Amino acid sequence: EALRAGQRVGHFAQALRQRLARQRAIEDGLWFCRGGSGMSLLYQPKIDIRAGRVFGVEALLRWQHPELGALSPAEFIPLAESTRTIVPIGEWTLREALRQKCAWRQAGQDICLSLNVSPLQLQPNNCAPSVLEVLIEECDRLGLERGKIELELTEGVLTDPVIMQEMLRIIRAGFRVAIDDFGREHSTLSLLADCPAHTLKIDKSFVDNVVENERQLAIVQFIVALARRLGMQTVVEGIEHLQQLVMLADAGCDYGQGYFYYRPLSGAQILDLRHQN
Ligand code: C2E
Ligand code: CA
Ligand code: CA
Ligand code: CA
Repeated sequence: EALRAGQRVGHFAQALRQRLARQRAIEDGLWFCRGGSGMSLLYQPKIDIRAGRVFGVEALLRWQHPELGALSPAEFIPLAESTRTIVPIGEWTLREALRQKCAWRQAGQDICLSLNVSPLQLQPNNCAPSVLEVLIEECDRLGLERGKIELELTEGVLTDPVIMQEMLRIIRAGFRVAIDDFGREHSTLSLLADCPAHTLKIDKSFVDNVVENERQLAIVQFIVALARRLGMQTVVEGIEHLQQLVMLADAGCDYGQGYFYYRPLSGAQILDLRHQN
């Protein structure tokens, strides 16, 4: 009995060691690749539901780790945040996506670009240019229209006064802001009253069973109505089936994103969408 318990502890310790080793390898890789090496961006189209047209794209980070291979951002972004390597990686992402947007425009594809930004990137930082500085610099250099660039910030920023100030500066400079994953965590409806963001992105968790669950649908309808009263546009993410789309369109959602329309695509594939629009 004692022997078996000892074995269990041994297995547990081994699993823990493996997890820590993987985490360590990812953290070392993030530091090594913080300038963007092995990293690339895919772009998932955002569709204007009523017009049925591609309205913009969301840039999504991909990373080929030198030893571990392709990693999901869901795994490495939290580690990039805890090690703060998200700051240089985020800067690389902004510059790379804006460069791509400029290339699309030169080829006649002038669409909106959404960028995921971690709250850490919006905190004061002496060692790196601010997100706003990078955006202004690149837009001026490339001649890009600021109103066609939107930053996606998760709703947690609504409770951080320093980040809310920075959000206000970004909006005053002419860029757009979306509240991402709205409703996933403890939503603070009262904070929306003072939120100057343009867009509310309704979290995928609401979409998943909107067809089977009338109560879930009621919540989506409520969020859409609220957003409209607040003068905000709505995007629903994670639409996978036609039935979901039909219900969300009826609920009055403005934009949709999800595998039903498109998976994340390469920059070149986005250019090919010109002919379908
Ligand atoms: P997110 O911002 O909520 O992005 C949407 C995620 O859902 C993406 O996963 C996308 O590929 C996936 N998705 C889109 N449509 C569907 C669908 O119909 N069904 C399902 N099952 N999934 C769908 P991805 O690319 O793995 O990114 C995961 C998360 O990592 C993102 O969630 C975002 O929070 C973060 N992330 C990605 N790129 C960046 C980045 O450049 N910077 C920062 N800070 N975070 C990023
Ligand atoms: Ca997002
Ligand atoms: Ca999202
Ligand atoms: Ca989400």
